[in-house]
Amino acid sequence: MTEEKIKYYKELLLKEKASMAQSLSDDDNAARSMMEQDANVVGDSADEASVNISQNILNLTNNKNKETMVAIEAALRRIEEKTFGVCVHCGKDINPERLEALPWTTMCIKCKSASEKRR
Ligand SMILES: [Zn+2]
Repeated sequence: MTEEKIKYYKELLLKEKASMAQSLSDDDNAARSMMEQDANVVGDSADEASVNISQNILNLTNNKNKETMVAIEAALRRIEEKTFGVCVHCGKDINPERLEALPWTTMCIKCKSASEKRR
């Protein structure tokens, strides 16, 4: 992979990381305001249930964002180590179109679908 390409993907990753950090803090704010609402609801079990459900949904999206954050961090590290864009499984180059869509991916499409089939 050329230096220019690496730089391009690095910028993609940094941009994605910034927007991910933004949405994580948005979620935290939403969680906080929901918690405050929760504190105002006393003894109404129906309302308590609905607050719990929205907190669960929030936690789910939060976890997914955090996973992506970790993956982005790892991809940035691979850029530094010059192993970026190489499939961790078979060692072949990952398809550029795939990297474009998912710059933090660690596996080529073949290994990825094989690993999903195994699950
Ligand atoms: Zn592979």
